[in-house]
Amino acid sequence: MQDFDLAIVGASFAGLLCARAAAARGLRTAVLESKRHPAARVHTTGILVKEAGEEIDTPPHLTRTIHAVRLYAPSLASIDLAAPGYYFLTTDTAGLLTWLTDEARQAGAEVRCGIRIDQATREHDRILLPQAYLRARFLVGADGARSTIARLFGLGRNTHFLLGLEREYPDLPEVDPDYLHCFLDTRLARGYLAWVAPAPGFMQVGLATSGGAKPDLQAFLDHTEHLFGYSRAEISERRSGLIPCGGPVSPAGAPNVMLIGDAAGHVSPMTGGGIRLAFRYGRRAGQLIHDHLTRGGPRPDLALDGELPSFALKFAMRRAMDLGPPNWLFNAVIATPAMRWVAQRIYFHRRAQAGFELPPPSSGA
Ligand SMILES: Cc1cc2nc3c(=O)[nH]c(=O)nc-3n(C[C@H](O)[C@H](O)[C@H](O)COP(=O)(O)OP(=O)(O)OC[C@H]3O[C@@H](n4cnc5c(N)ncnc54)[C@H](O)[C@@H]3O)c2cc1C
Repeated sequence: MQDFDLAIVGASFAGLLCARAAAARGLRTAVLESKRHPAARVHTTGILVKEAGEEIDTPPHLTRTIHAVRLYAPSLASIDLAAPGYYFLTTDTAGLLTWLTDEARQAGAEVRCGIRIDQATREHDRILLPQAYLRARFLVGADGARSTIARLFGLGRNTHFLLGLEREYPDLPEVDPDYLHCFLDTRLARGYLAWVAPAPGFMQVGLATSGGAKPDLQAFLDHTEHLFGYSRAEISERRSGLIPCGGPVSPAGAPNVMLIGDAAGHVSPMTGGGIRLAFRYGRRAGQLIHDHLTRGGPRPDLALDGELPSFALKFAMRRAMDLGPPNWLFNAVIATPAMRWVAQRIYFHRRAQAGFELPPPSSGA
């Protein structure tokens, strides 16, 4: 049985950032991942909002910078949105996860793959993980939307989800690569959006729905075939997954155990974006655990809880989207100043500004 200060279950965005911070500060850290490699079977589109890109210094070949959004109504009428200096980074997500794994290892963390954890017990002041033959002073559940660690320790669980489906194509030449293409359509993507995202070296096409509505990606492809010509392209990958949208779970921890990332419900209820929060609060959890174990700092889950945003406005917007505004309404308002104002604020937060001109078309780097 090996002894560690910190064991983390789940080697994805939250777990790897937590491991890197904790190991860099000197904690003996092990990360346990059920897949054969953290980059195998990626389930996310992996788009980073600007703020996520500011949390880590991503190698440029793993990202593509997109400055603008083209937002379509169900009629396929569209408006273009941008904000000064704002951008999204689409990613080679498997490459990003491989890089994050290397970063965590270089900081000193041990990342072990092919170990699925579904047993954990307390032994005095240690947590025992018999399947990994290890004992740790602190355990983190970074194991995603349906967290096993939450179940094993009686912690809060996610109850509200978006369901996402996506296909990847090596190329779709008819897609304008300078835009993130987003589609409002309650019939096809109830409670959320469909998207066509130009990634570094490939294209991602997907949609998500809320409230248990069945996502029908083929219907969306049929609806927009004349714009992008999917039927002439090969499909290189398919993926799907649950996105928690009910806000932070409670409780998100107990003595010597805490949840982070999707497991903790750290996802924007409105946009379903979780990577920025996984980066920020995964890293912060690593710092707080170090502080707690070595300097008498407060319980990390309670300290982190005090740092989380309230999400109040995003919950209100989630409820409005869950109602499924009728398609005629989207068609009627798409070109109005009010719609542009709301969309600018959703996509670009407080950085929205009228009258901004896009930079010239780029190679995407
Ligand atoms: C279709 C889809 C598209 C999305 N698009 C975006 C987007 O563009 N931008 C964005 O910001 N967010 C997006 N999200 C949300 C984002 O992917 C998540 O918020 C993010 O992946 C959360 O990271 P995480 O580290 O908490 O958990 P996850 O990425 O879910 O990783 C959990 C890890 O734990 C491992 N694991 C689980 N159980 C065990 C176990 N018992 N033992 C060992 N290992 C285990 C899993 O194999 C996995 O590697 C999307 C989600 C989906 C489903």
